[in-house]
Amino acid sequence: MNWLTNFIRPKIRSMVEQKDVPDNLWQKCDACEGMLFHRDLTENMSVCYHCGYHMRIPVMDRLRLMFDEGRFREVAAPSVLFDPLKFKDRKRYSDRLKETRSKLGRNDAIIIASGTMGDLPVVIAAFDFAFMGGSMGAAVGEGLVLAADTAVRQKAALIAIPASGGARMQEGALSLMQMPRTIVAVEQVKAAGLPYIVLLTDPTTGGVSASFAMVGDIHIAEPGCMIGFAGKRVIQETIREALPDDFQTAEYLRAHGMVDMVIARKDIRGSLIRILGILFHKNPSLSLNKGDSRTSEGRNGISKNGGKKKDSGSEPRALAKIKKTLKAKPAANTNGGNARGKKNAG
Ligand SMILES: [Zn+2]
Repeated sequence: MNWLTNFIRPKIRSMVEQKDVPDNLWQKCDACEGMLFHRDLTENMSVCYHCGYHMRIPVMDRLRLMFDEGRFREVAAPSVLFDPLKFKDRKRYSDRLKETRSKLGRNDAIIIASGTMGDLPVVIAAFDFAFMGGSMGAAVGEGLVLAADTAVRQKAALIAIPASGGARMQEGALSLMQMPRTIVAVEQVKAAGLPYIVLLTDPTTGGVSASFAMVGDIHIAEPGCMIGFAGKRVIQETIREALPDDFQTAEYLRAHGMVDMVIARKDIRGSLIRILGILFHKNPSLSLNKGDSRTSEGRNGISKNGGKKKDSGSEPRALAKIKKTLKAKPAANTNGGNARGKKNAG
């Protein structure tokens, strides 16, 4: 048998193996299992070009997609107590944290960035799901507080982009305390009459979905993303009822009034600029399509869902309606404060 294993097998292997093609050039789509060439995939903003499945996108790429010319300034996050509970499961939390920090080169799961979108001032607080599942501990809470402060100081809109499994278990009750803290933080933005918009991405669950992520003036979600509090199985076992297949998806939440718009990734920036323009009483929508080559028109999101009230016809009519509503209300607040009245009232 020696000649078989020592001679024939290596020969066959050398014939079969494709040494020239590195493994990482191709990726398989999780939804349709189609093969995706990595460069095409990057160009398509990590959206499968066979079936339109929205994959998770690295947080830095996400931020570049949002801001004008992809340029933004990162706001340094304040430091917090390191491993306050000296927590240990299979591994020490401190070790886990150190490892993740050195691997990803950032201190925690949140990035605060300031810049402009359609020349309007914006502060974005984006989650990095790669950092311990985007879990919210004291550092993330502190980051959101800083993001809100920065937005108020710069008279900018605040956009939160959660991608999180929920509270960080290793910080116990301290992580749960971030829920009311973040709510208070975004309330400051609202009190200042500035827009607070949430872009829900896959996944937004647990303590994050139960706090700041669900109190935006406007909730936008990416197609197919998972949004929920407890897992589907847990709920099913509790209420002893079968749940629909699309339960806890962006589309399901839109149908049930929790999400205002589901917008494809390529149209998100354009739609946000339009919305911000309305809320800031500027009018970027007219010039948007000419100057912005990276986004397509962003029509679908708004026209399909017609803001949040009902399905209306073409987008100009929907926009006109929003504008009319805004005009009709007395401008008691400063810019942008009006639009949210309809949500907070409910
Ligand atoms: Zn696919």
